[in-house]
Amino acid sequence: MIEASRKCLSFSKFHLIAVWIVTSPSCPICKKQGLPVDRATVICHAKESVWPIGEVPYYICENSSCKVVYYSTKGYLTKAEVKTRVTFKENDPPRPLCYCKQVTEEDVIGAIGKGANTVEQVIEATGIGGGGLCKFTNPYGRCCSRHYLPFIKRALESRKGQKSVQSEPSV
Ligand SMILES: [Zn+2]
Repeated sequence: MIEASRKCLSFSKFHLIAVWIVTSPSCPICKKQGLPVDRATVICHAKESVWPIGEVPYYICENSSCKVVYYSTKGYLTKAEVKTRVTFKENDPPRPLCYCKQVTEEDVIGAIGKGANTVEQVIEATGIGGGGLCKFTNPYGRCCSRHYLPFIKRALESRKGQKSVQSEPSV
C-alpha cells in the first residue's frame, strides 16, 4: 500500500514538471511565449519607480511589436518601466548589441565602413563581446553573442552585396 502511494506520488511529481514546461506562461498582452529571465536581471533593468520586484519567475517577451518587456504571473513591465534600451523593441538608433562594452549596431556598421572585413576585425575594432556580465547588463540576461555574431555576419554580407543592413528580426 505504501509502495503504491509512493509510485503514485512520483508519477504526479513528474506529471507536474511536464505540465509546467509545456505551459510556461505567455505574455499577458501579445500572448506569445517568452523566455525565462533571472529575477536579478529584471531588478537591474526595471526603473526604481516599479520596485520592489516580486519574488516570482519572470519572462521576457521577445515580440518586437509588443510593449511588454518583462512579465510574470502577477503582472508585467512595459518599455516605459524599463530603463535599458532593449534592442529588439527599438526601431531607432542606438540599438545596443553588446551591453557590457556598450557597442551598438551603428558602431559595427561604422567599423565595417572603416575597413573591417571579417568578424574578428569587427570585434577588434569595436571591442564587442567578452564582457562577461551579461546576466546583469543585458536585458535578456544572456550572452549577447547570440545577437551580435549574426548581426556582424549579416552586415559583412550586406556590404559585399551593397545592400542595406537589415535590423535583427524578432525571434
Ligand atoms: Zn508580448
